[in-house]
Formats: sequence, structure tokens, C-alpha cells
Amino acid sequence: MPSPSSRSLWLTGARVVTMDASRRVLDADIEVRNGLIAAVRPRAGRGRACTRPRTLDCNGLILIPGLVQAHIHLCQTLFRGLADDLALEDWLAKRIWPLEAAHTPDSIYWSALLGAAELLLGGTTAILDMETVRHTEAAFGALEEIGLRATAGKCLMDAATNPAGLREPTDRALQEAADLCARWHGAADGRLRYCFAPRFAPSCTGPLLRAVSDAAERTGAVLHTHAAETPVELELVKRATGQDEIAYLESVGISGARAALAHCVWADQDAIGRLARAGTNVVHCPSSNLKLGSGIAPIPEMLAAGCHVALGADGAPCNNRLDGFEEMRLAALIQKPRLGPEALPAAKALELATLGGARALGLEHEIGSIEVGKRADLVALDLSGPHGQPAEADLVSRLVYAARAADVRHVMVDGRVVVRSGRLLTADLEEIRAKANAAARRLRRVVGL
Ligand SMILES: [Zn+2]
Repeated sequence: MPSPSSRSLWLTGARVVTMDASRRVLDADIEVRNGLIAAVRPRAGRGRACTRPRTLDCNGLILIPGLVQAHIHLCQTLFRGLADDLALEDWLAKRIWPLEAAHTPDSIYWSALLGAAELLLGGTTAILDMETVRHTEAAFGALEEIGLRATAGKCLMDAATNPAGLREPTDRALQEAADLCARWHGAADGRLRYCFAPRFAPSCTGPLLRAVSDAAERTGAVLHTHAAETPVELELVKRATGQDEIAYLESVGISGARAALAHCVWADQDAIGRLARAGTNVVHCPSSNLKLGSGIAPIPEMLAAGCHVALGADGAPCNNRLDGFEEMRLAALIQKPRLGPEALPAAKALELATLGGARALGLEHEIGSIEVGKRADLVALDLSGPHGQPAEADLVSRLVYAARAADVRHVMVDGRVVVRSGRLLTADLEEIRAKANAAARRLRRVVGL
């Protein structure tokens, strides 16, 4: 892939939601150079944008930092609609694990491309991704091509209780993870990074969890796992370790700024205190928690305690969309019946979807807001449709409560335009559709669904 252009490209004419420290909203033109935001130039009194040499016309559009989804499983995109209306334990054991075990490098590749295409077209520019046990190399290959910013990792499952098709000896799992980290952490000019991804505490031995905590420390990689998703999971961990799950994870080094824990639906006051004190990232996945009936995560309580929170769609079979706008809207809505309409206001939801996600990826100094010096990960939305009107309504409200993925017009990652006028430029959508469908058909046949 060519390195980002050293020639300036101007995004002109947009209203810009910066998400900078003072949350400025400006009429400004944005200069992008070498993959970075080189200038944010307010337009008032500065003449017309047509004087710019290379431009991407954003007249009448809303420019926001690209959304960051900090919990995704691209390897599950082909399973969409194959595991509906099941509790988590059946969802995993009867559908997801057999399907993951049936993956080939080819099906992982098309699953990743299909998911990444949906994410980019919907305004998500960066993800934290948990792959399956095998063929993670193929997912990285797809991500390298399509241009999404991704921190991804092979799923680690070394406990004796795991299904035979996915269980791995501890040493082999750790060695492959280390090899993948050496190959991909920092690849594509830093756009791709590695995460160590133990599936969840019950699927891993204590020595593996300690080893990946050390490996993450050594390499600067993120730790990505699931935690406290259901009472059954909490009970399993309690029985095996004598500890509450969040405390146990902390005791083996899965905590702190480097760790991103998906769900934490059943975190109690003690666990919330631990998460806050350690600066551990919690990744809230409201659609997934609703669809699997897991519960409603105590996100306002976590925020009040000082926890770091990001958002994510989780995998396609438990959502079934990978739509960052949907997760923002739901994150705000689902707390209100429990705590009242003031719980988790729109501005906070937008913050979790941008700055919160950037922090969960360890990239808070590089992405998450539109500021000079940050990477140019930008999304231009057209809210001129009836559902986005009236235009004078509060812009943050329009973005969180009214906007949808289909409103996305242009998307840039690392200064490269990957979606223009709603069209994906970095991959052939027709080919992805055909190949992904063929791969999904084969998986269904192998698993007998
Ligand atoms: Zn998940």
C-alpha cells in the first residue's frame, strides 16, 4: 500500500465536531498531510474554499472523528443470523464455537473483509478485534488491504474445558500469539496493531493469563478479553479460583490502561471500584447485551466512579449489525428506564464512541478527536434527510439520537480516502458479497446448520 501522501488534501465546507478538550463545533476546512491533520482552519472571513488545490468537497456535511469500536469479532461476520435468540452459553457451545472451529484461512479472510466493509461504510474507522484461535494471519491480510485501523489478536483458549476443535496447548497458543505480534504489531505504518486476546477467564489457565499480561507489558500491546458478561460466568470463575472475576483478572495482570474488558455487565460495586482504580477500559456492547439477554451494564455507575468506557458492536451473530451509531444511541437509551432520562446524555455517548474507544486502543494521543497532529481518521455525514432535520437542532443530539450508518458519505483513515460518496474505494463490494456468501455456505454445511 502506498504511504500517506505528502501533498495536502483539504476537506472543505463541513461543520466540524472536533471532540477536542473544549468540545468545539466549528465551520472549518481541514488540511490533511502525511496521514495527519495538518490544519483546522475556521472559515469565517477567510474566503471561499475553492482556492484549495486538492479538495474533498464536504459542503453541507457534518465532519466527526471516525467512530472507534473497541469490541468486534470480524471472524464471526459470516455467522450473522446463524445464532439468534439463544442464551450466551448455548450461543457459544452450539453455534459459535463449532462455526469458529470450521473456519479456513479463506473464510476468515472474507469474513474480515465483509465486516470491515460494513464498518467503514458505517463510519467506524478503528476497531479492537478478537479473532478465533486459528488463521488470524488471514484477517490481518484483509485488514491491511481494506484500510481499516485495527488492533487484532488471535483468541486464546488453553483450558481443558474448551471444545476440542478450539483448545490449544498453552505453549503453542502463546508462541503463535508472540509470532503474530512480531509480524503485525505496528504494520501498515502503524495502522495495524496486535492485542493479546484470551477469550474469557473460564477458557484460559492462570499461567496463560499471567504470560499474556507479561507479553503485553513487554511489547506495548493491548490485552483484550470478555469479563462478567453473565452470572454463569461469574460462578464458574468463583468456583475455579475462589475470587470474583474482576478481582481474579486483576490478580493475573489483566487490568490497567493496557486492558480492555468487554461487557462487565455484572460488575458489582467492588468490581467497579477495582476497574476505576486501575484505569482498566470497559467496553460496553449494548446491542449484544440486550440480544443475548445478558443484562444492562452499570455504565453510569462506572462513569461516576471514574471508569474508562468505550463502545462496541461485538460480533455480527449477537447484534446483528456492526453499526457504531446504533451502539451510541442504545448506550444512551438503555440506562434511562433504570436511572431516569438524564442518565448517560448524548454528549457522553459520543465521547465513549470516539475518545473512549481511542483510549481503549491505547491510541488516545493519535485518534478520537479532530485536532492538529492527530491521525486523519475522519467521517463526513449527510444529515439533510428528513430524519436529520431540523438542521438547527442540537448537533450532538442529531448525531447520537437521529444519525445512522447509512448517512455516512466520506470516510478517511490515516489520511487515505476509503469511502467516497458512500462507495467503498479499497475493495470490491460485489466480490466480497459473492465470496463471503460462498464461504458462509461452506461453514453452514460443515457444521450442519
Ligand atoms: Zn465478544
